[in-house]
Amino acid sequence: MESKLADYLKMEALIRHFNFIKESSYEDVSGIWKIESGKHGPVLGVTIHTHGNEPSGLAVLAHFREKFPLEQHLRNGVVIFVLNNIPATGKFLVAGSDDEKKASRFVDVNMNRLPNDVMKCGNDDPRYEVRRAQELRSIWSQFDIGFDIHSTAQKSVGMIMNIGTVHPQLIRGFPITDIITNIENIQIGKPAVFFYGNGSIPVMGIEAGCHGNPDAFMRAIDCTEALLKNLNMIEGETEAGGREYNEYFVDGALMFPDASYSLVKPFPTYEMFTVGERIATNEKEDILAPLTGHSIFAPPGTTVKNLDEEVMFYLKPPKIITVE
Ligand SMILES: [Zn+2]
Repeated sequence: MESKLADYLKMEALIRHFNFIKESSYEDVSGIWKIESGKHGPVLGVTIHTHGNEPSGLAVLAHFREKFPLEQHLRNGVVIFVLNNIPATGKFLVAGSDDEKKASRFVDVNMNRLPNDVMKCGNDDPRYEVRRAQELRSIWSQFDIGFDIHSTAQKSVGMIMNIGTVHPQLIRGFPITDIITNIENIQIGKPAVFFYGNGSIPVMGIEAGCHGNPDAFMRAIDCTEALLKNLNMIEGETEAGGREYNEYFVDGALMFPDASYSLVKPFPTYEMFTVGERIATNEKEDILAPLTGHSIFAPPGTTVKNLDEEVMFYLKPPKIITVE
């Protein structure tokens, strides 16, 4: 059963908070809400809607503006909320059908598959996300810690998308026990988070759950609140002590050579496969699993529209890690 949505998380509230952040700017860059405590401390960057169709990000914004006003609660440092993709989110919020929602993921380029030379492209580049990444770079680079909020097309109980090393002290209290590592070394192009901070700051993402699911909204809110506590930026402590996580290492990705291919069946989150198993086919050629493991980020059905992106990722079987 899905939990019931509080009023401040309903669609009309999310639209109100979207309009607020769209109109807010910092250093002449729009889509940014900056909260200063006036006291020394870290700069936490919380980025939302790197993909337009992932409203858990707006749910977090709504929470910290309406339910738990961060302007009143922030004790140290600075929080910079950035709505990464403004027009895609605008499209999502007026989308009527599932196809329109899906099409509101990005305008021209997936902001998590930015071209490797994105910062070298002209500032008159025709692709919106390339220009947006260029204008956000000076903001993103101010982060001391980066936190990027996402959701998935398929059901999931949440994943911490770790970039680089795992930061146990930062994820304490997150209501998520699955950690995905190494995706940054497998995926095509550059994710937005690649440009956060000075290149060596702690950066994490979360996949909060299925797009638009109330549980995903709450998970995203709870993780952000836990992170703020772990950084001593708001009052309260998260529970310490030995906690077990499943660490899934991303070891490869499936790409379709052309549009004639489809998956042999839908692959739900963590669907198991064994090495050599048929994963996809065009009835002439089969694509076989290169390892024994689990899938993530497969489409809900068996086909994909965008051949420039991974169809799904291959995870090694999980390792249990205990974090103090
Ligand atoms: Zn996403």
